[in-house]
Amino acid sequence: MRDQRLFKAIDKEYKRQRNNIELIASENYVSKEVLEATGSILTNKYAEGYPNARYYGGCTHVDEVEEIAREYLKELFKAEHVNVQPHSGSQANMAVYMALLRPGDKILGMSLKSGGHLTHGYKLNFSGGLYEAVTYDVDEKTEMLDLEKIRAIALKERPKMIVAGASAYARKFDFKAFRAIADEVGAYLFVDMAHIAGLCATGAHMSPVPYADVVTSTTHKTLRGPRGGIILCKEKYAKAIDKSLFPGVQGGPLMHVIAGKAQCFYEALDHDYKVYIDNVVKNARILGKTLEDGGLRLVSGGTDNHLLLVDLRKLNVTGKEAEELLDEVDITCNKNTIPNDPQKANIASGIRLGTPAMTTRGFKEAEFVKVGNLILDVLKHKDESRILHMIKEEVRKMTAAFPYAPLSEDYYE
Ligand SMILES: *Cc1c(COP(=O)(O)O)cnc(C)c1O
Repeated sequence: MRDQRLFKAIDKEYKRQRNNIELIASENYVSKEVLEATGSILTNKYAEGYPNARYYGGCTHVDEVEEIAREYLKELFKAEHVNVQPHSGSQANMAVYMALLRPGDKILGMSLKSGGHLTHGYKLNFSGGLYEAVTYDVDEKTEMLDLEKIRAIALKERPKMIVAGASAYARKFDFKAFRAIADEVGAYLFVDMAHIAGLCATGAHMSPVPYADVVTSTTHKTLRGPRGGIILCKEKYAKAIDKSLFPGVQGGPLMHVIAGKAQCFYEALDHDYKVYIDNVVKNARILGKTLEDGGLRLVSGGTDNHLLLVDLRKLNVTGKEAEELLDEVDITCNKNTIPNDPQKANIASGIRLGTPAMTTRGFKEAEFVKVGNLILDVLKHKDESRILHMIKEEVRKMTAAFPYAPLSEDYYE
């Protein structure tokens, strides 16, 4: 018994993923093996608890799966202790707060408008509701983090925890400097490396693991695994973190997703993955340069990682308009506010672009120059449907030349 309506919808999404140029900075394309593990019969198994300490019988083999995932993850980040069970990045973060803080404690994180994440103290998120959240921002002029300013805020506010990490910040984090500030004010340092985890794994970005008390990440962004979260910490927090996640925040772990994570870490340990990440960074730079040459401004004047924040005001287009226009030609990205944005968040003056997904498809610098020029053409010819139509055909040609085909053509139909 197969629900045709459902599988048709999945099939249409498969085709969209294949046909579009995917520039959402937090997305990627997983391998056939990650897909297989995540879609496996492991979804049938209950395994509350941790390997060799479960609350259900029949866990011998899933114990092995989870041990494999832990082993690879430890090796990948040289971490003292790891937890591979968080269902998502947000739930990993919740477990960290609940392990180290009490409601009402003060946390200092990057503001949402500067590029921080909802779970770093946003008022409508649990992190802003349960804890007293104060924020730091990027500098108004440089649009980069100024560690001296962050230090001054920390000295004044005396937070119990400092949170470092972002969802829309194209520059490097100096985790060593964050550690020094945390030590000076007696705060925990919690690093959420969700976006840049892949870069931290290969050395393209400073790893937070030696400096932070606890590190979390998602597994589905630059890491290129299934949707999910992970926690890495110093041995002395191991018990508190594990207890906080289960039974504190979650029940049964998603063993099929943990298997997908294990395969993802296995792939990330390979030399090819380092080459991939180096290309992701190179491609972001060339895409940024192409957009700048075409008259757009990059927030902070450039990028050090896998993403770009583009200020669209010079071309008189809003973020919302740009997202919709690009969608029309099958280029997918998201609108994003820029620092001190005159527009509201649901309009925004910028877009966020990332290179991880299309680099997985095999796009190199030449293709990203082309992508940059297509984006410029769309924004400069937004009312000329004939030109938009031609651009869409060009997009189709490019994606056909770099196929994403982990499954056969008619897999879902
Ligand atoms: C994506 C992201 C998360 C949350 O991940 P979900 O799996 O969507 O809950 C947390 N922190 C940062 C910095 C992120 O970019």
